[in-house]
Amino acid sequence: MRNYRKVHSYEVKEAALSKLRERGVKLEDIAEIVYEMQSPYNAGLTMEDCLDSVKSVLEKREIQHALLVGIELDELAEKGMLSEPLQTLIAQDEGLFGCDETLALGSVFSYGSIGVTTFGHLDRHKTGIIKKLDTKSNNTGVFTFLDDLVASIAAAASGRIAHRFRDREENGFDVDAG
Ligand code: MG
Repeated sequence: MRNYRKVHSYEVKEAALSKLRERGVKLEDIAEIVYEMQSPYNAGLTMEDCLDSVKSVLEKREIQHALLVGIELDELAEKGMLSEPLQTLIAQDEGLFGCDETLALGSVFSYGSIGVTTFGHLDRHKTGIIKKLDTKSNNTGVFTFLDDLVASIAAAASGRIAHRFRDREENGFDVDAG
């Protein structure tokens, strides 16, 4: 019989954040991508707005779960611990594998079409830290899932900013406030 253990949200959040850190991704790196994506459309957007948006996206359980699943698979593949042919598919970042994109994309849907189109853009252009992870994947480790997960966090945070800035504009608030 299985022992039932209720996992507290706090434990999930901490695990997801520390995995990101351990794998060399800083929240500031993701915020930089968000700034690059959204500053052309939102005058007055600051890096702090972008970092806040990244942090708030990371509060979502759905994204935390995706991070835990994806990073775990990257790490197991790095240690050669998966069974074949999955081991080779993930370790070699096989182009037609696609589960890395699918897992990441799933957590972007709740941020609207801007989230989804930004994810597509980042997947193609591999901006900033995403490019670094992609390069590291070829040389020093397995980041098959993580590059897409980072793209999905950046895309979700971008979608969130686009909608919030519009709300503020329409409500007559200064975009720099609150
Ligand atoms: Mg990938």
